Amino acid sequence: MTKRPALIVDHEKLRYNMSTVTGWCREAGIDVAGVIKATTGMASVALDYERCGAKWIASSRLEQLERAKAAGVKIPVLMIRVPMLSEIADVVRVCEYSLQSSIDTLKAASEEALKQGKTHNVILMADLGDLREGFFEKEELADVAKYVEEKLDGLHLAGIGTNLGCVGSVKPTEEKMLMLADWAETVEAAIGRPLEIVSGGATSSLMPLFDKVMPAKINMLRVGAVVYCGPAEDLRTCYGREEVDVMSDEAFVLEAEVIETNTKPTHPIGELGVDAFGQKATYVDRGRRKRAILAVGRADYGDIGDILPQLEGAEVTMASGDHTILDIEDCREELRVGDVVRFKLKYSAILRLTTSENINIEEINF
Ligand SMILES: *Cc1c(COP(=O)(O)O)cnc(C)c1O
Repeated sequence: MTKRPALIVDHEKLRYNMSTVTGWCREAGIDVAGVIKATTGMASVALDYERCGAKWIASSRLEQLERAKAAGVKIPVLMIRVPMLSEIADVVRVCEYSLQSSIDTLKAASEEALKQGKTHNVILMADLGDLREGFFEKEELADVAKYVEEKLDGLHLAGIGTNLGCVGSVKPTEEKMLMLADWAETVEAAIGRPLEIVSGGATSSLMPLFDKVMPAKINMLRVGAVVYCGPAEDLRTCYGREEVDVMSDEAFVLEAEVIETNTKPTHPIGELGVDAFGQKATYVDRGRRKRAILAVGRADYGDIGDILPQLEGAEVTMASGDHTILDIEDCREELRVGDVVRFKLKYSAILRLTTSENINIEEINF
């Protein structure tokens, strides 16, 4: 019997989603870096990406890339969180590529690469307004590129890239993509040769591709979210774009077991303070309603808004770290203790569930 709560990873659905993305990108002359960080770097997911035509495996965490390699990933790996100085020796040892935004780190990476007898490939980041990592002025980026090209013998300047739709929520519009293309041309003029890589962003940068306004200069995207969630998380992926609807939203599914069913009031009784997480919650009084408690909680998945029950009429109303309350008054199906409820998942829930030691990860169709 399946140990619960379980996270079911359906690799066939996952590969279908990945192939859909690599197919779209191939048509537009774009190579895909398959980002595995949302799955806490499951090596099987990296292997799927490789099979589906990704050219790099990417993560924000070095340990995950190291695990992917140990599991047999052959394509180059890319570190997509700009590295810490303190980990630079390992970054050079494990990764063929890294994103970079600091001259001190670049110098250290070069020294380390020379020491290890390697050439390490770097992609310099351009901050086009999202205000996360990257050089903020085009001239500064061009100067640093020239410095890497001429002075840092342990490094190969592979290209430039940008990240949007993150801490600053900035959309990857045609204007931003044209700006990146322009910055790439400035760098190319400064170093006197073409760049191999112009990396236009993450999942959300599929939107200019859908709109057929992606400049030809952009030739790499680093994609994670849409492959894992498909249309289950429309905001985070591509703002509800219908192109995404062809994908599966059941590559990752949570299964939780019912441990109590009851009919209880919907408004708590007594003097209200704060909930299990110290928050002042509001409760709508809908009278007495039928409900079920599931043995899974916020310690596992984070926020109740990130799990979507696959039971018609059911709604998640409250949760503690270890309990989830499901309103089932409007369900046609009866629920009994021992029954299992399935949930589609948003990005944050997948991220958390794959790190939770309470979750049994069950991989199918690998
Ligand atoms: C997380 C991340 C990505 C992937 O983002 P998704 O929205 O999951 O596609 C790409 N690039 C960088 C630099 C990232 O940190």
